[in-house]
Amino acid sequence: MPIVASNAAEMVQKADAIVRDNPFIEFRLDYLSKPALALQKIKTFVEYHPEALIIATCRRAAAGGKFRGAVAAEVDILVKAANQGCHLVDLELESADQLKQADFARLRRSANLILSTHDFRGTRKLEETFARMKEYPADFFKVVSTANTLSDNVVMMKFLERHSHEHSMIGVCMEEQGIISRVLGVRAGSQFTFGAINPGEETAPGQIAARALRDVYRIDQVDTATRVYGVAGDPVAHSLSPIMLNAAFRRENVNAVYLALHAKSLDDLLACVRDIPIHGLSVTMPYKEEMLKHLDKTDPLTAKIGACNTVVRSQDGKLYGFNTDVAGVVRPLEMRLPLQGARTLVLGAGGAARAAVFGLKERNADVYVLNRTPGPAQTLAKKARAKAVNKLQIRKMAFDVIINATPSGMEGNRDPMPISEEDFKAKYFFEMVYTPAETKMVKIARSRGLQVILGAEMFVQQGARQFEIWSGKPAPMAEMQRVVEYALAQAAKASEKK
Ligand code: NAP
Repeated sequence: MPIVASNAAEMVQKADAIVRDNPFIEFRLDYLSKPALALQKIKTFVEYHPEALIIATCRRAAAGGKFRGAVAAEVDILVKAANQGCHLVDLELESADQLKQADFARLRRSANLILSTHDFRGTRKLEETFARMKEYPADFFKVVSTANTLSDNVVMMKFLERHSHEHSMIGVCMEEQGIISRVLGVRAGSQFTFGAINPGEETAPGQIAARALRDVYRIDQVDTATRVYGVAGDPVAHSLSPIMLNAAFRRENVNAVYLALHAKSLDDLLACVRDIPIHGLSVTMPYKEEMLKHLDKTDPLTAKIGACNTVVRSQDGKLYGFNTDVAGVVRPLEMRLPLQGARTLVLGAGGAARAAVFGLKERNADVYVLNRTPGPAQTLAKKARAKAVNKLQIRKMAFDVIINATPSGMEGNRDPMPISEEDFKAKYFFEMVYTPAETKMVKIARSRGLQVILGAEMFVQQGARQFEIWSGKPAPMAEMQRVVEYALAQAAKASEKK
C-alpha cells in the first residue's frame, strides 16, 4: 500500500494505522516537501515493526513523481532510506540513465533495487523499454503503462508471462481500463500489485483501494483456475454489478472474479473475451443490441427481444447470449400475482421495455405499450402481439401493473414523467430505475395506494439469473440484495452530501 502525506509525522502515523493488516508499505517520500526529514521517523517505525516490508520511493517530477530535486539528491535519499531499514528502493529508469555503476552499488548495498518505468500515455514498446532496463543491475523490474483499451491489459499480461520466469517483474496498467491488470496481473507473473489505503488516496490513476482488492475482488485467492467475468459497457464505473456478483461468487465459494470493463468498442471487448479469456459478460448500454451480431447462439426469446444482457463463453470459445432482464421483470411479478391475463401497461419501448413486453406475453399477460414516440411502441406491439396505446386511451383504463421502463426519474434526469399523476390506476407499480431507490413515480404510486416493486429488486433478479447461468448454482439472493441495498444507501448518502 503506497502511503502519501503532507508531512513525515502524518506519513508514519498512517503506516502505524495499517501495518498490522497490511505489512507491505511504500513510503512515497516525493510527496513530502522535505523527504530527508522523514528518514529518522522511518527508522523508528522499522524498529517497532520488524514484520513490515518497506519500499522507499522518491520519484522525480520528470518521471511523474513529485520530487523537484536532482537525480543525485534522489539517490542520496534512497541510499539513506535503505540505511534506515527500508527493504526496497524504487528508482525510475530516467534517473538510472544518469547514474554510475558505483551509484547502483550504493543503492543495492542494504536494499533491493526496483527499477521502474511509467508510461502515462499508453501501453507501448514494452519490449524495447525492458531491453533498456535490463542493462542496469536491478533486483526487480517494474513496468507501468496506461490502458487506453481493455486489450492493453492483455499486452501487459503477455509481457509479464514472457519475462517473469527469468526476472522478478512487477507490471500494471493505469487508468479505469487497467482494472484487469490490477486484479489479474499477479497471476500473469507480477510479483505484487498496489492498493490505495483509502478511496481518494490513490497514487496512480485507476488504483483500486486495497480493501476492495481483498474483499471485493479476493485478489489473495486469484489463481490460474479463477474464472473471469465482467460487466461491459460505456460508461460502466457506476455499475453495482461488480459488488453484487463478486459477493455472490464469494458466498457460494465459486472461484471467479467479476470486473467492471469500460469498453470503448465491442471489438476491443471481444478481443479480451478471447485472449484473457473472459468466461461471461453482463452487457449494458450501449452494447445490448450490437452484441447479438457477435453471438454464436441465442435463445429464441433473446433473438425476439433483439437485446442481450448476458453472454457465456463455452470451453471451445463459442459465445451464447441470453436476456436476463426478462427474469428481472417476470420473477418479482410472479411472486405477487398470477400473470395469466394480467392487464399490464409498459411505459417505454427501448431494450428494457422489450424484455418486459416479450417476457409478459410469454406468460400470457394482456400487455399494453405506451411510448413517448409512438412509432417504436407500435412496432414492438406488433412484433409481440401486444397493444400500442396513447395517453388519451389510458385515461379511461385501469391496470393490474404499470411498469416504468423509461429512464424518467433517474438521478440527473429532469424529463417529464411518461404519464400524469391521475393515470396511476393499477394494483402494482413496477419501477425499473434504481438510482435513486425512491423515484418521483414511486412516491406518487405509494401516495395513490399502489403496491410498489423497486428497480433494485429487478436488478438483483436479473443478476441472480446471470449467476445461475454462469455457475449452475442457485443464486444467494439474500446476500446479493443486502450488498446492493447497502451500496445504494451509501450512494444516496454521498449524493445528499453533495
Ligand atoms: P433505452 O433503450 O434507451 O429506452 C428508453 C425508452 O424510454 C425509450 O422508449 C424512450 O422513448 C423512453 N423515454 C425516455 N425518456 C422518456 C420520458 N421522459 N418519458 C417517456 N418516455 C421516455 O433504455 P433501456 O435500456 O430500455 O432502459 C430503460 C430504463 O430501465 C433505464 O433507466 C435503465 O436504467 C432501466 N433498467 C433497469 C434495470 C434493472 O435491473 N433495474 C434493467 C434494465 C434497464 P423514445 O423512443 O421516445 O426515445
